[in-house]
Amino acid sequence: MLKLDFHPSGRHFLQIPGPSPVPDRILRAMSLPTIDHRGPEFGALGLELLDKTRQVFKTQGPVIVYPASGTGAWEAALANTLSAGDTVLMYETGHFATLWQKMARRLGLEPEFIGLPGSEGWRCGVQADMIEARLREDSDHRIKAVCVVHNETSTGVTSDIAAVRRAMDAVGHPALLMVDTISGLASADYRHDEWGVDVTISGSQKGLMLPPGISFNALSDKAIEVSLKAGLPKSFWAWDEILEANRTGYWPYTPSTNLLYGLNEALDMLLEEGLDNVFARHQRWAAGVRAAVNAWGLEIQCQDPEVYSPVLTGVVMPEGVDADAVRNLIYRRFDLSLGMGLGKARGRMFRIGHLGDCNDLTLMATLAGCEMGMKLSGISLAGSGVEAAMHYFAENAPAHASDS
Ligand SMILES: *Cc1c(COP(=O)(O)O)cnc(C)c1O
Repeated sequence: MLKLDFHPSGRHFLQIPGPSPVPDRILRAMSLPTIDHRGPEFGALGLELLDKTRQVFKTQGPVIVYPASGTGAWEAALANTLSAGDTVLMYETGHFATLWQKMARRLGLEPEFIGLPGSEGWRCGVQADMIEARLREDSDHRIKAVCVVHNETSTGVTSDIAAVRRAMDAVGHPALLMVDTISGLASADYRHDEWGVDVTISGSQKGLMLPPGISFNALSDKAIEVSLKAGLPKSFWAWDEILEANRTGYWPYTPSTNLLYGLNEALDMLLEEGLDNVFARHQRWAAGVRAAVNAWGLEIQCQDPEVYSPVLTGVVMPEGVDADAVRNLIYRRFDLSLGMGLGKARGRMFRIGHLGDCNDLTLMATLAGCEMGMKLSGISLAGSGVEAAMHYFAENAPAHASDS
């Protein structure tokens, strides 16, 4: 048997920004027997979970659920709405935006990749004025879609999607707005309908607290209309047959039944708590973690406090320190997984995930692991991040605790 439990006791600290820890309640829901995906019970489950999924995306429109990782849902969004050779305007916020852009090219689209110069773009949010300026030049509407990442998981930046929609409307440009909130949904405020998003892409293993394996496309009416004429080849990803089967709570193929049990449970947990409480909880954790990073005297990867991510924080290592060596030490000594620096940020930073099934004390343990590991790595810290975070969490009671 594969030896995964090399640490003999206690739970592993999975503090990467996805997959996030899966709550026991969800694991239990997923352990129920697999049922007939064409039987009557399944249809009822399908209708119920599709309805609750729409509530989390804040949309009245349909949400497609794929048995695929988030990358599949990226492809589905492009393949359903675009034709070979179409120009798409994509904004470079970090590694995930870069990967989506590469995918667009491989699919035969013509991505235009814009962003702030040099490394600056990876430390700020989407600059809606740059999108507006580019769309204004595009008077013959060659740009068919604007694609942005809401929560850039490689850097810890959460962009203002409403501002992107306002920029598009200011020009009156008809391009579709497609947003990746694979790591933002159910952790950071997100509003598919209100923000006028045409296709929202998300995944299961981040804010939804599920294992990896399912992903989503939320659709506007306009996206569905455009999909009827889009020319890129698609079959498995095609929305039309899925929308048809979903009307009665079914799928055109075998869906991931047990992951859907988990999704149904996760949606109950989120809706019972209330999405606003969920978002406030993440904002508070993020502030506590940033208090620690500031006390250490280290830089946060995101340089604009307006767009700090509630989901994760990128911690930049001092010049000359190999962030991966620090991360590996922390993993081996303290059984704590941190996110690695990706793409341009490789070896320069690590990422602390503070999403989903966490609490103040799991985050305190995470910060203690970071602090011990950095000291053992010979990094000289300005002060104790652990103390700063303890102070923050103690002084700033969460909403649920302050009213008792
Ligand atoms: C995780 C992630 C992806 C990729 O999702 P997979 O499930 O790994 O395919 C894409 N975009 C963002 C912003 C992500 O966080």
